[in-house]
Amino acid sequence: MQAAVYYGPGDIRVEDRPAPKATSANVIVQVHCCAICGTDVKLATIGHHRCTPPRIIGHEMVGHIVHIGENVPGWAEGERLTLATTVACGDCSYCRLGLGNMCPNSLPIGLQADGAFAELLAVPPAAIAGGNVIKVPDNVPDAAAALSEPLSCVINAQQIVGVKAGDSVLVIGGGPLGALHAETAKARGATNVMIVQRSEPRLSLLRKLPEVLVIDGAHEDVGDAVDENTDGLGADVVIVAAPSREAQEQSVYYARKGGAISLFASLPNGEADITYDSRIIHYGELRLAGASDSRPDHVALAVQLMAEGKIAADAIVTHRVPLDNLHEGLRLMEEKQSLKVLIYPPGD
Ligand SMILES: [Zn+2]
Ligand SMILES: [Zn+2]
Repeated sequence: MQAAVYYGPGDIRVEDRPAPKATSANVIVQVHCCAICGTDVKLATIGHHRCTPPRIIGHEMVGHIVHIGENVPGWAEGERLTLATTVACGDCSYCRLGLGNMCPNSLPIGLQADGAFAELLAVPPAAIAGGNVIKVPDNVPDAAAALSEPLSCVINAQQIVGVKAGDSVLVIGGGPLGALHAETAKARGATNVMIVQRSEPRLSLLRKLPEVLVIDGAHEDVGDAVDENTDGLGADVVIVAAPSREAQEQSVYYARKGGAISLFASLPNGEADITYDSRIIHYGELRLAGASDSRPDHVALAVQLMAEGKIAADAIVTHRVPLDNLHEGLRLMEEKQSLKVLIYPPGD
């Protein structure tokens, strides 16, 4: 079968690989499509310390079952599914706290287990046991279902920071995840959703999203734009979805007193020291929240919100590319020419 294999930083090859072996304990899925994640772009440029080569990469997937081991209950051939891709151990202190996304023993699919930039994917037994396999209802199109995992990370962040009905929400960074934040904030009832982006063509792509105010960060003063749209108050919630130090530092100035900030995007290791005037947080009673990855319940909720028509995640898909052209898709993402890029393996 055709698959994209990581051999080391910047070295990803689309090549022929043996099909995964069917066992009595696994499920094999024919991949319909798999979206390119920021992690894949990292693998294609600087590499990733958690990826063990040679490894088939890709994790934001949807497909249908072509094999079910006789020891795997509850599934039927032909069913569509998507994955929560961090497979937690279920046994450690964090897993017992219900924080499987913090599990130090987790197995990330597409980094340490073979992923979905391939015609076929073997779902590891631990993923089946851990509830990481999520059924996709018929009314959720493939292009949306493939985005369940990134959407689940966004949902996790918005639950933690507490986006709620009537809120004004400012998203700093209008890449694919920023766009999903805007869509998710609307689905949670936010009535005033703003997103900051500095460059074309992403500005134009974002302007197609309904009921989202796009702020051109290169030509407009973000603080003034936020003030104008919040009666001078500032946003209830600010979400930093750009891996930018400046954005993290500025975020506290855009929130209203009593508001909250989510540091959703991470900064590179060793370049993450930032400076705040802590009086703004103290006197403003601001809440600063982190967010990392997601758990199976977040993926299930992502699929449910799409099935209920509350989020059309496929609205942020801008490019569809065959697997043998993966490098073109990676380039589109790296050069910020796209929002989400979907990769289609042959054979479906
Ligand atoms: Zn991802
Ligand atoms: Zn654990």
